[in-house]
Amino acid sequence: MVFEIQEQVDLTPYNSFGVSQMAAYFADIQDPADLPQAREFAASKRLSVLVLGQGSNTLFINDYPGLVLYMNNRGREILPGAGMLRAAAGENWHELVMFCLQNSLYGIENLALIPGTVGAAPIQNIGAYGVELDQFFVELEAFDLKTGEIRHMSKADCEFAYRDSLFKQDPGQKLVVLSVTLQLAVEPVLELGYAGLKEALLGQEATPQRVFDAVCAIRSSKLPDPKRIGNAGSFFKNPVVSRAKLLSLRESYPELPAWDTGDADLVKLPAAWLLDQKGWKGKQRGGAAVHEDHALVLVNRGNASGEDVVLLAQDMSSSILQGFGIALQTEVRIV
Ligand SMILES: Cc1cc2nc3c(=O)[nH]c(=O)nc-3n(C[C@H](O)[C@H](O)[C@H](O)COP(=O)(O)OP(=O)(O)OC[C@H]3O[C@@H](n4cnc5c(N)ncnc54)[C@H](O)[C@@H]3O)c2cc1C
Repeated sequence: MVFEIQEQVDLTPYNSFGVSQMAAYFADIQDPADLPQAREFAASKRLSVLVLGQGSNTLFINDYPGLVLYMNNRGREILPGAGMLRAAAGENWHELVMFCLQNSLYGIENLALIPGTVGAAPIQNIGAYGVELDQFFVELEAFDLKTGEIRHMSKADCEFAYRDSLFKQDPGQKLVVLSVTLQLAVEPVLELGYAGLKEALLGQEATPQRVFDAVCAIRSSKLPDPKRIGNAGSFFKNPVVSRAKLLSLRESYPELPAWDTGDADLVKLPAAWLLDQKGWKGKQRGGAAVHEDHALVLVNRGNASGEDVVLLAQDMSSSILQGFGIALQTEVRIV
């Protein structure tokens, strides 16, 4: 296919909130060999560059004046070496999870049904139901927009943390992920610690397929399908606070749940619980609303602008700052 850069492209189909903004320039990257040409084009016009997967963690609040690189390269390959697998950035994450199960490669069943691409998975170190990508991550290949070179980055290079990595700290967006290599288990490894999952499997022998099915069932019953109602999953991260802060909050809120972080001094609090205490479920602002069943999920009621969503999110985080002295951070990338 001849490589083409389109002008004035409507981004509505390319973001799961379904907000309508335009990209000045847009390139569908099916072959990474086209990236040097895209880089030269951006440099010649002094354009900023935005890398996009399926837009399920991105909220546009303005038209994008630069070049959008829509990562659409495909390919999955089982590598020599037990459990090793490489997948192209444009592959769908959930389809990769299914492919692994079909090929007796285990460990990422708990990450089933997370929307988006393989290339975006390391950006916020996707996680769900007690499992995070970095547990299985080996390396990634990236195109460096600054130098035009290909780079190989190890797990240590990526600086993974809770919903975070080196890439999130890179607002200038220098690196385009081309592929991700994972090391999966060849024998089942089950992570059933998460409340809800254990209950869903009660009375049955847990297998990777059953964990996968249970995760899909729980997610489908709890989270709105972005194809039917625009959203980007959890809008805020769960805040991490000191144990001393937890104890002081529990004087007023004895029921406040908390999770261990692996650091004895720090705990993670459920942002949804905090928002629920302040009555945010179902609240609306313009076309944006808080989901009726899930205070962490902001939805597009049909005609929301990105700004409606952001204004609602700002009101929500102000109420948590005032009520609990906790500053919420957004999980979604606002562009
Ligand atoms: C209903 C719903 C449920 C969700 N549940 C979860 C969940 O349980 N856990 C979780 O962790 N997330 C969850 N998310 C968030 C989202 O699915 C993930 O963050 C996912 O990895 C985003 O993939 P994407 O391709 O849509 O990324 P995009 O939104 O397109 O991009 C996200 C970020 O990654 C960058 N990026 C994308 N591709 C590349 C690339 N190839 N190279 C460099 N940078 C790139 C973008 O510039 C942007 O900064 C959920 C979202 C929805 C809508």
